[in-house]
Amino acid sequence: MKKFKRVLVANRGEIAIRVFRACKELGIRTVAIYSKEDKNSLFRTKADESYLIGKNKGPIEAYLNIDEIISLALNKGVDAIHPGYGFLSENAEFARKCEEAGIEFIGPSYQMIEELGDKIKSKLLAQNVGVPTIPGVEKPIKSEEEALEFARKCGYPVILKAAAGGGGRGMRIVKDEKDLLTQFKSAKNEAKKAFGIDDIFIEKYLEKPKHIEVQILGDKYGNVVHLYERDCSIQRRHQKVIEFTPALCLTQVQREAICNDALKLAKAVNYRGAGTVEFLLDKDGNHYFIEMNPRIQVEHTVSEMVTGIDIVQSQILIAQGYSLDSKEIGIKSQQDIQPRGYSIQCRVTTEDPLNNFAPDTGIIDIYRTSSGFGIRLDGGNGFTGSVISPYYDSLLVKVTSWARTFEDAVRKSVRAIGELKIRGVKTNTAFLINVLNHETFLKGQCDTNFIENNPELFD
Ligand code: ADP
Repeated sequence: MKKFKRVLVANRGEIAIRVFRACKELGIRTVAIYSKEDKNSLFRTKADESYLIGKNKGPIEAYLNIDEIISLALNKGVDAIHPGYGFLSENAEFARKCEEAGIEFIGPSYQMIEELGDKIKSKLLAQNVGVPTIPGVEKPIKSEEEALEFARKCGYPVILKAAAGGGGRGMRIVKDEKDLLTQFKSAKNEAKKAFGIDDIFIEKYLEKPKHIEVQILGDKYGNVVHLYERDCSIQRRHQKVIEFTPALCLTQVQREAICNDALKLAKAVNYRGAGTVEFLLDKDGNHYFIEMNPRIQVEHTVSEMVTGIDIVQSQILIAQGYSLDSKEIGIKSQQDIQPRGYSIQCRVTTEDPLNNFAPDTGIIDIYRTSSGFGIRLDGGNGFTGSVISPYYDSLLVKVTSWARTFEDAVRKSVRAIGELKIRGVKTNTAFLINVLNHETFLKGQCDTNFIENNPELFD
């Protein structure tokens, strides 16, 4: 058992604050890093110590500078680094260099990150253990001919995807042959530019699917459990906007099948830490694996609310060598995890829904939060007087509700978002309320095209 004394968070904003809170509750000292653009950001002040990094780098590059972050950590006597989500969280080289420097990387091994980071490899892994995947090629496609041949066999539409893609980027839906010929080269170039690797693959495009994912926790001794599913179908441009659990669209039999498949995959790779196995569900209720994310996800809050398990604390305890059934983590078996009630998370962003969700910037003049029974806020940089800069993603605060029924959770979410008062920058709060009040949402039956297909949400 390696007890951590100091943990550095190689991230910013709400997830940095989330991890600092978990560390403090565990009696661990916290270390923040911040770029010069984040000099006045809130997360810095939530850590015990904070250090400027990337003096001569751009706002994003500052958080991607592996060697500088590791040498700072060594200098400050840090035992472990939490990577959050985005930035270096899925960077195998970073995990490897942490290990080489004798610093614990709070996450799976670098080998596992490497293996799971490639969407083609992880699909093959799933197939090998009998988990269904979407029909697609088994290797990166090298030429238009290969793509055409696959599409002819499986039929249009198909989707081109960057093997190293993430964050909803690097995907192109292709309707016909002509479309495929024009999209192929640009998809490859785009993949290279965005992810540094130009490997792309092709698979069948499922129409109107639902996105269902399963939260996993595994320790260093081969014990793995799932924390049930989340429905993340409310998306805009393949990026999640609202997530909830349990998924209303699943029967109990489907739920068990999907959770067991996630567990099967996680067990096969001896998964360590927190991870998420993502699936698409087709119109007939069949599920297909799409990818596994070896890190904490934005929407982990809803699983915490219904299971009562602190996922971030569990990650830190697992990294220290505690087993799932230890007194500290307290998960004796899968049967121990009995979800209760319903939870919904809404991502409040500084974006203007009426202007194609363009990010808004400026000073927040008024920032009044909501609270009350069943409401949890995970904030980033929201306070009166804070500056919303154009440099980073526009997530301002996550509003998570919990209630005994789905209807009550929806009502709480609507109430809590309505109670927020944010002036000075535009936000998507009115849009979120429109989604929450939509009859398809209330039935829990939205598919991933819901926002695109319902222009009235913008009224
Ligand atoms: P990322 O890693 O960028 O998040 P994912 O592979 O997880 O990408 O896919 C994100 C979203 O893209 C899915 O939730 C779904 O809405 C859409 N998507 C991905 N693959 C397909 C597919 N084969 N058919 C239909 N939609 C897809």
